[in-house]
Amino acid sequence: MSASIPTKMQAAVLHGINDLRVQEFPVPEPGPLEVLLKIHAVAICGTDPTVISKGWTGMPPYGTFIPGHEYSGEVVALGPAVSQFKVGDRVAIETHKGCGHCMNCKRGKYTICLNYGKPETGHRHYGFTTNGGYAQYAVNHISTLYKIPDNVSYDEAALVTTAACAHFALDNIGGLMGGETVAVLGPGPIGLMAVQLVKALGAHKVILTGTRDDRLEVGKKIGADVTVNIYNQDPVKVVKEETGGLGVDLVVECSGSSKAVAEAIEMAARGGRLSLVGDPHDLTTINLRRFVLDDMRAAGVRGEGNGDCARSLALFSEGKIQGKPLITHHFPLEKINEGIETFVQRKGGAIKVIIQPNQ
Ligand SMILES: [Zn+2]
Ligand SMILES: [Zn+2]
Repeated sequence: MSASIPTKMQAAVLHGINDLRVQEFPVPEPGPLEVLLKIHAVAICGTDPTVISKGWTGMPPYGTFIPGHEYSGEVVALGPAVSQFKVGDRVAIETHKGCGHCMNCKRGKYTICLNYGKPETGHRHYGFTTNGGYAQYAVNHISTLYKIPDNVSYDEAALVTTAACAHFALDNIGGLMGGETVAVLGPGPIGLMAVQLVKALGAHKVILTGTRDDRLEVGKKIGADVTVNIYNQDPVKVVKEETGGLGVDLVVECSGSSKAVAEAIEMAARGGRLSLVGDPHDLTTINLRRFVLDDMRAAGVRGEGNGDCARSLALFSEGKIQGKPLITHHFPLEKINEGIETFVQRKGGAIKVIIQPNQ
């Protein structure tokens, strides 16, 4: 590698449950079809505290593993056989690289690769089963890289998977038609991206539900037509009132609350569609009879597939979706544990917290 690239870097290494330490670590070397990135921004995602506090299936051993999967940076070295990228390219990454040869990868469904967590097959899940971006440098396969348009910042590009997850969720349910009505449940980062995305795609009325007034207020600023604090109002009732008693054409469930999943069925119109993005941690009872007899459709989503990061970056570039209103805090790498605490406890109205490892 070039003389300008150090052999050691600072990285946040997971040493055990809730034991993330910033320390010296070898700079990784890119293999065939890989590049070395100098990381300029890495966003803390809702799954990161889970990885740190519980571990993850297929995770590398404690003491060797660097979490972090929402990052952007600059290509500083190329492994063998890389021709589509050059040193100096500004890139955002997606987290999943399928093995490329299992039946799901053959079908293009690389986020549900059947060889998940088996690096020997070529599968990678950066920040989960492969080292990620809580570091000054990371190695990524070129299939996970997306060039950042000139007018999009590294900060915003670090949020590309948040936007692309909302994009992919819409793909999985068959998209959205202009003029349709939409309810987005949960004003977390993905929900707030979903609001912007459905507006950009021509949704007629977007109703955002949640429990925090400050986040609902952000939702209103970036395009929600109606906001509902579910502590004060019955969200199903409001959705029915706002849609002439019919219910919405599409519900995008981003809260991960099992109660919200049950309510999603009640607030969808007959023939409506449900896009289930939130990761529900408990079981729920749903009105399956209504789902069946009212001819509904539902789809889940795993990560950001379909190359949707490219489409998300295009919309960032056009200003049709924005990351900036979601970015509330910045921390240097040495204060990453403070950054994670700020994010988890939502200190100071934290929504998206960005770590800058090379600041
Ligand atoms: Zn994420
Ligand atoms: Zn595969």
